[in-house]
Amino acid sequence: MTSILRRAALAAALLLFARGQVRAQGTGPNHGLDRANIDTTCAACADFYEYANGGWLKRTQIPAAYSSFGTFREVADRGDVVLRSVLEDAAKGSSDHATNEAGIYYGTCMDTVAIERAGMSPLEPRLASIDAISSLPALRTEVAQLQLVGVPVMFNSGSEPDFKNSARVIIALDQGGLGLPDRDYYTRTDSISTKLRNTYRDHVSRLFVLAGESREQAEHDADRVLAIETQLAKASLTSVERRDPKRLYNPMSLAEVDSLAPHLDFSTILRDVHAPASSIIRVGHPEFLRTLDSMLTAVPLDDWKAYLRFHTLNDAAPWLSKPFADEAFRMQQAMTGAKEQLPRWKRCLTSTAGNLGEAVGKAYVARTFTPEAKARALAMVRNMEAVLRERLSTLSWMSDSTRKFALAKLDAFVNKIGYPDKWRDYSKLELSKQSPFIVNRAAVFDFESKRDLAKVGKPTDRTEWGMTPATVNAQYNPLANDVTFPAAILQPPFFDPNADDAVNYGGMGAAIGHEMTHGFDDQGRQFDAQGNLRDWWTPADSKAFDQRARLVQNQFDSYVVLDSLHVNGKLTLGEDIADLGGLKIAYEALERSFSGKRPPPIDGFTPEQRFFLSWAQVWRTKARPEAERQQVLTDPHAPARWRVNGPLANMPEFAKAFGCKSGDPMVRPDSLRPQIW
Ligand SMILES: [Zn+2]
Repeated sequence: MTSILRRAALAAALLLFARGQVRAQGTGPNHGLDRANIDTTCAACADFYEYANGGWLKRTQIPAAYSSFGTFREVADRGDVVLRSVLEDAAKGSSDHATNEAGIYYGTCMDTVAIERAGMSPLEPRLASIDAISSLPALRTEVAQLQLVGVPVMFNSGSEPDFKNSARVIIALDQGGLGLPDRDYYTRTDSISTKLRNTYRDHVSRLFVLAGESREQAEHDADRVLAIETQLAKASLTSVERRDPKRLYNPMSLAEVDSLAPHLDFSTILRDVHAPASSIIRVGHPEFLRTLDSMLTAVPLDDWKAYLRFHTLNDAAPWLSKPFADEAFRMQQAMTGAKEQLPRWKRCLTSTAGNLGEAVGKAYVARTFTPEAKARALAMVRNMEAVLRERLSTLSWMSDSTRKFALAKLDAFVNKIGYPDKWRDYSKLELSKQSPFIVNRAAVFDFESKRDLAKVGKPTDRTEWGMTPATVNAQYNPLANDVTFPAAILQPPFFDPNADDAVNYGGMGAAIGHEMTHGFDDQGRQFDAQGNLRDWWTPADSKAFDQRARLVQNQFDSYVVLDSLHVNGKLTLGEDIADLGGLKIAYEALERSFSGKRPPPIDGFTPEQRFFLSWAQVWRTKARPEAERQQVLTDPHAPARWRVNGPLANMPEFAKAFGCKSGDPMVRPDSLRPQIW
């Protein structure tokens, strides 16, 4: 539920990206701003992103194995060096059970001799089981087993807090089952989308050939897979529609789900995976279930078997022998534009950190994060909360009755900083050095699925973390009303004990403000202090908010990224509101921290200028066109250039700091400037 990955329905992160790329460029972190990144030939009031980063943009090449490169990646790369040594130590064996299992996972992933020798044999029991399916009930049983080992065919399901009673955990059943990142990939008719779809179809066919099918059979099966996925895609909600939590909340009893989709027979699937009873099921999109149900009788069993076979192969391909891994990369290349594969250790490290994040978290934290850093980050959060509290108290457009609830919500914020107080219990996970890697990987997914399901029917554990400590990101979770700042992001240049306050407020401060503001963005504002979906707004205040939000949406809609592809202002609305709110709050917290004694300029820049330069430099990014296209289509975060220029052009504080005049591109007219927080 609260992961940064796409399956998270609601949790709002600072950014989305697939982590794990090669090596950091350049040397260690600079303290404060890097002057060499600035391009003074570009006017700050014309294009501030270019001004702050032009030097860096000119001299930086995206490394061949990366689809994009920037600050987040640099920090992740530094973290990977630490994680690598943690994992290499763990692979030699550890007396700590969790560390030891992570070591086995990483070690078997790195054992390419065993992996090449095994070929696709570790998958054969699963493929044989799919092959033996001869009835609808047998198909269901197989689907349940695949879901448990992390191959989400047909639909997505798992446990989560009830939107309307977040203290209890229920089961959710939602659209899913696609091989491409979003339903729009199946429905768009422009030439690039069509080409990508053809590449995907080719990929499906090639995997079947690698698995031993004749070319002719493989082509036929690829068509069957595409036909099934296209039907599922067309029955799915768009990512913009999915931003509305009320639309995703269709509570039903299990009997109601079964009568909506009798052929799916969800109660049998739940019994197969030993799920505890759920008081209700949250159905994300009933129409999707209806379509899936009719497909279960209309689509021939052999087509479904091809679909399950493909997803089994596709999930395992990156981790099988070279021909499979190369084919998986060929598809990845089409999606991201990366020129070469990541080195093996990076791929294995990313998989370990992603799937056993808390097992390696303790050792990672011990080597990268101090109690002093935690205390300083918490102090910064408190300063930011104080500013937000004051702003909420004095906002002119909000009525007192809505204001009362808004303040109560802010007071109830829970801050998760650095790492969890209680680490995940891995005592029931048993991996084996003798097992093929994909068997160990399936065992971890099975462990996680069962851990996830075991929560159903129990009170929500509010101490649990949705992000691992080594993740360079941050998160607001509306169902818990909490903000998470993992140890990995509390590092330079976001947060640097050796840098001046202006730089830290422009980096980490604005990021903290961003996450806090998510509690009040177009989506977050629909949840109350306890994380329940409940409307606490007066109709007039709702209207006033929507009018202001519309200005932000129109602004971002107007940004053209690639050829005719523009930012989808509706999709990025929550993030854009959070960027603007975060910057406003952080700026004021910085001014307040001077307590009347404004520090002198450093390197010729005033503290206010350094604040804005810090924000812009934190976001410096280069992305390949393929990756940028994917981001615009699927990611609720706008590309970096607009995350810098968009909010700053709305801030009189920015114009003042750099002496920008009305009419300058970085100064939007007052009538178009949203005043939200
Ligand atoms: Zn965000």
